[in-house]
Amino acid sequence: MFTVNQTNREEHLASLPDDDIIVLFDRKCVFMCDGGARLPRAAELRTSIGEEELLVLGGNLNRHDCWGMQVAAVPPGLLAVECRSVFVTQEAGFASAVSRCRELAEWRSRHRFCGCCGSRLDFSSSDLAAKCDKCNALYYPQIAPAVIVAILRGNELLLANNRRFTDRVYSLIAGFVEAGESVEDAVHREIFEETSLRVKNLRYLYSQPWPFPNSLMLGLTAEYDSGEPVPNDGELTDIQWFPLDKLPRIPAPGSIAHRIIKELAKK
Ligand SMILES: [Zn+2]
Repeated sequence: MFTVNQTNREEHLASLPDDDIIVLFDRKCVFMCDGGARLPRAAELRTSIGEEELLVLGGNLNRHDCWGMQVAAVPPGLLAVECRSVFVTQEAGFASAVSRCRELAEWRSRHRFCGCCGSRLDFSSSDLAAKCDKCNALYYPQIAPAVIVAILRGNELLLANNRRFTDRVYSLIAGFVEAGESVEDAVHREIFEETSLRVKNLRYLYSQPWPFPNSLMLGLTAEYDSGEPVPNDGELTDIQWFPLDKLPRIPAPGSIAHRIIKELAKK
């Protein structure tokens, strides 16, 4: 079970209990022991990572504190595992621990100085915020909400191929919520911009944190209302209606897109 940490704590590796869990990561990977089966413990890294290195507390997994740190290269003896695959192969608490440690460590590394006056920031001990003592500006970890929508027309589902996808994968329509928008506004705008379709009867399903680097994916369904699907924004190469019992290749397990599509196909 994973519980989040609500205060700013940074500690040197040398001062951590031996059994504390360490989430070391770079832009794409998390570094794991035993061929990718588990995260390393503090004691196992004392010879390979400098004891003076600072780590950021993210939370507690199965009664052990979890600490995050970004590294530039694969530490000796560890295996680089792509972060996305952690969501597929590991339990939910594990994925939450990796997400939170990663997001907090990255947030702290990007908030050393005040964006208003340029002074060095302090990290509050009572609140998860960075504070400027000179101009009182406060900085909290930012989360970027994004919508991902299953558009249904009877027993057909609208799926799109994005030029960034490999292997002719088809997925749901997705996009970021913009400043000043409600989630509903974002769904209608994003779908119209990307496909020229109008939808109705939005229904919220569930969400998934997606730490690449700081998204929160909000999953919804919508019913088709009007229009013909046309790929509009240059990102999509093809959009089609697929019968729910005859789907193309879809995103890998672990993603919210996979979960939504599979659940709809089961009904
Ligand atoms: Zn300031």
